[in-house]
Amino acid sequence: MTTTKTADVDGTLAQIYALAGAGCDIVRCTCNDEAAATGLAQIVPRSPVPIIADIHFQHKLALAAMEAGVHGLRLNPGNIRKPADIKAVASEAKDRGIPIRIGVNAGSLDPEIAELHGGATPEALVASAQRELAYFAEIGFDDVKISVKASNVALMIDSYRLLSETVDHPLHLGVTEAGPPPAGLIKSTAGIATLLSEGIGDTIRYSLTADPVEEARAGRTLLESLGLRERKGLDLIACPSCGRAEVDVIKVANAAMEALEKRNIPLQVAVMGCVVNGPGEAREADLGIAAGRGKGHLFVKGHVVRVVPEADMVEALVAEAERIMEEGIEAVIASADAGAAAEAEATRVELLATQGADVNRVEEHLERIQEITKN
Ligand code: SF4
Repeated sequence: MTTTKTADVDGTLAQIYALAGAGCDIVRCTCNDEAAATGLAQIVPRSPVPIIADIHFQHKLALAAMEAGVHGLRLNPGNIRKPADIKAVASEAKDRGIPIRIGVNAGSLDPEIAELHGGATPEALVASAQRELAYFAEIGFDDVKISVKASNVALMIDSYRLLSETVDHPLHLGVTEAGPPPAGLIKSTAGIATLLSEGIGDTIRYSLTADPVEEARAGRTLLESLGLRERKGLDLIACPSCGRAEVDVIKVANAAMEALEKRNIPLQVAVMGCVVNGPGEAREADLGIAAGRGKGHLFVKGHVVRVVPEADMVEALVAEAERIMEEGIEAVIASADAGAAAEAEATRVELLATQGADVNRVEEHLERIQEITKN
């Protein structure tokens, strides 16, 4: 959702383009006054993605937004409550072929429904959506998507589960007012991922107190990591580092992430702290680098292709990523430097000999645990 004033056409369009670039497929803009509706009329024809108008309190603004050409509406049944107003909007949407999301929110639930159900319970949220559906049904309108958002993650999950058992409509998922990252990201992911893994949900939104581009990135990353969306961007994986690490993994991983993201390279790239375990553990990555004895060992699908000075690790990683994009993985493996794999193996053996196979002293700890528990 954009955070600009919708009346600011250029500012809003700049944000919409940034969101689309970050992987957002659909953008919602507030339509809170006549100036916003006027802005929408200029934004919609220039937007790279469908635009949804967010409507609260004034049903006339829903009518104005449809006139502006929006692709969809979000109505809050908690604050547009007159049946005649709701049906007027649905009737116009039906005539124009515009879908509506019934956007129930625990924080702005219809007080009458809340009282009937003893508060903002899952039953109350679902009842609010059902009441809106019934108004729509009276005029034969059914092009509907539903959300029952709450800032309490457990309530949100229970509400969507109940909703999915109650209706057949597509569902839009979100934890509302999740707050700033990282807590907001964790809460949103807990709610959305739980439901998606149960097969519930058709569209999602992260509601973060942050730049909306972060919301889009988070949503895209979640869908990609669940295999629900083809990965279009970088997937940087990195080991957590341990006693074997031959380099500052956090520093190298952050530098690699920044450099590769700038180039929008859609590969899975691994940054691993040591050559003892790195290439093996990250053998599924398209490309990776592992440190050892002042060198960086570049590997592609587990095959070591080059050995570079440690100071050049990030630069070499980026260059190799660009080669893969130009020539393909097989070609890069086929043109591996002679001796690179042997050098990496020699370093691995050397590190094992000097550090021992148990550099994290697991065996020692186990023995001591046994002694402690015996006494
Ligand atoms: S063993 Fe190597 S690759 Fe694995 S966590 Fe430790 S430093 Fe990283």
